[in-house]
Amino acid sequence: MAKKTPSVALPSVDYRLVPIRPEAHLFQVTCTVTDPDPAGQRFALPTWIPGSYMIREFAKNIVRIEASAGGKAVGLTQIDKATWQAEKVPAGTALSVTMEVYAWDLSVRGAHLDGSHGFFNGTSVFLCALGQEDRPCRVELVKPQGKAYAAWRVATSLPIAKGEKGAAALYGFGRYRAADYDELIDHPVEMGTFALVEFKARGVPHAIAVTGRTDVDLKRLAADLKPICEWQIDLFGGKAPMDRYVFLVMAVGDGYGGLEHRASTALLCSRDDLPNSNTPASGPLPEAYVTFLGLCSHEYFHTWNVKRIKPAAFVPYDLTQEAYTRLLWAFEGFTSYYDDLCLVKSGAIDSATYLNLLAKTASAVKKGPGRHLQSVAESSFTAWTKYYRQDENAPNAVVSYYAKGSLIALALDLKLRAESGGKANLDQVMQLLWQRHGRTGVGVAEEGPNSVFAAVAEVGGAAAARWLKQAVTGTGDLPLERLLKPFGVTLAWEAASSLPVLGAKTGGEGSEVKLTSVYNGGPAEAAGLAAGDVLIAWDGLKLTPAALDKRLKRHRAGDQVKLHAFRRDELIEASLTLAAPAADTAKLSLTAKADRAAQALRQGWIGA
Ligand code: ZN
Repeated sequence: MAKKTPSVALPSVDYRLVPIRPEAHLFQVTCTVTDPDPAGQRFALPTWIPGSYMIREFAKNIVRIEASAGGKAVGLTQIDKATWQAEKVPAGTALSVTMEVYAWDLSVRGAHLDGSHGFFNGTSVFLCALGQEDRPCRVELVKPQGKAYAAWRVATSLPIAKGEKGAAALYGFGRYRAADYDELIDHPVEMGTFALVEFKARGVPHAIAVTGRTDVDLKRLAADLKPICEWQIDLFGGKAPMDRYVFLVMAVGDGYGGLEHRASTALLCSRDDLPNSNTPASGPLPEAYVTFLGLCSHEYFHTWNVKRIKPAAFVPYDLTQEAYTRLLWAFEGFTSYYDDLCLVKSGAIDSATYLNLLAKTASAVKKGPGRHLQSVAESSFTAWTKYYRQDENAPNAVVSYYAKGSLIALALDLKLRAESGGKANLDQVMQLLWQRHGRTGVGVAEEGPNSVFAAVAEVGGAAAARWLKQAVTGTGDLPLERLLKPFGVTLAWEAASSLPVLGAKTGGEGSEVKLTSVYNGGPAEAAGLAAGDVLIAWDGLKLTPAALDKRLKRHRAGDQVKLHAFRRDELIEASLTLAAPAADTAKLSLTAKADRAAQALRQGWIGA
């Protein structure tokens, strides 16, 4: 992105952050403005964090806030859920607002602090001085007091305030800086006693900081991530757009998530997903580790696609309310296609493993009846209320712009390659978007000459662009069987198992059989059962998760069974006719005796 360089050096907005009471999960953060708005300076905290499209109201975690100037208290009035207005202060007087923020959200989107570590996103802790968003920011990160914290270090891609008094050393507390507020909140910070490893990708320093109790083999992790990063840097022209990159990894018992930033990513994973000394040195990687590498690959790809190639609706981000775009399929879907594709192209996995990953995505899309109600363009637009706020009806009503978006990217890539005899491909579309939008900072328009469709038309012709438009606004299934055929890949659909089905998803705790979702048009719905119902008996016999399997094995599609269930505290009885399982599980395999043309196309696509 083109950097805004103010013609006159503006005074900075200064921040000071202290993990003041780790045991109470409180950060103390001060924001100081040297020339506050003479009409009364206003300060606001974002309501959402870029990359996670849901209103999260970070200001709810501010537990104390006050203002002062020249050593005297200044009145501060909250004027809406996330904005405060300070009283006027004499011209030339610096104004400070100090707040305490409760940080107990162990996700990649918020802030977390205890005696073992601290993590925060700027959106949770740094107030924006309204009207001064373009000013440079200075940040002082202060080590918590006490012996217990003596060994704490800092991992972040925030630039160090080199040359300034108190400038932080690499991985140290001290002074950092950002060009403006937008940059300030785009570098999450981890502090604690994380494990650390460094490597270079195409000459650019990269670091991985792993927090949590883990036996991770850091050298192995670095060695496996390097080719993934280099493949992506090469895809976008061979020169990385950042000076330094940091993977901030939080390893927990059970977790999964990631959030992208311009020069770093925050990741949450299960500690057992990470490699350790027991991970085989060669041969196929453990499945969970492939999933973790896929997550790293996904967030790293965002360094280009969404952090620099952005929807026009995000230029600039309006963090006070929802920012609507119908294009998340291009930013999340295309990124989801490339995350696994990059694993096979960079040699982390073989083509058979890659085809299995593709099959999983295709199956996940096929299992959701919502794909026939909602297009990925609509799913993008309503991400704020639907995709990000999924309830029991989501399988019936929502399609994932990640999963279906990645299948659209696959279909488009295959189409471009097959129709051009291997000359055109999706990489060229991404490269064009990078030149046109990533390098210039011009947002990607929803339609017209500055859109993804225009870039596709340029690479593959107007018909390819029309096909894409239809795919993202339509609700039909993609013709993947037909598109994979010229590549010597066969797609077959099978049932996941031979057992008859209830037409519902079951879950629940312990020995409970709870319907978590009831599929539209299925047997459970026809029998009058609903999401939340707890099944207790099947033809008069007690039902547990293990018993359910046993019962299903004694039946075939068309059989009628009598079910008893509790809806809240009320007993209900239902007569359910079991249905045949749907052929909704994809199997992908290399076609036996593929001809030379197919082999050449496949070689160009996945190198096999
Ligand atoms: Zn993503």
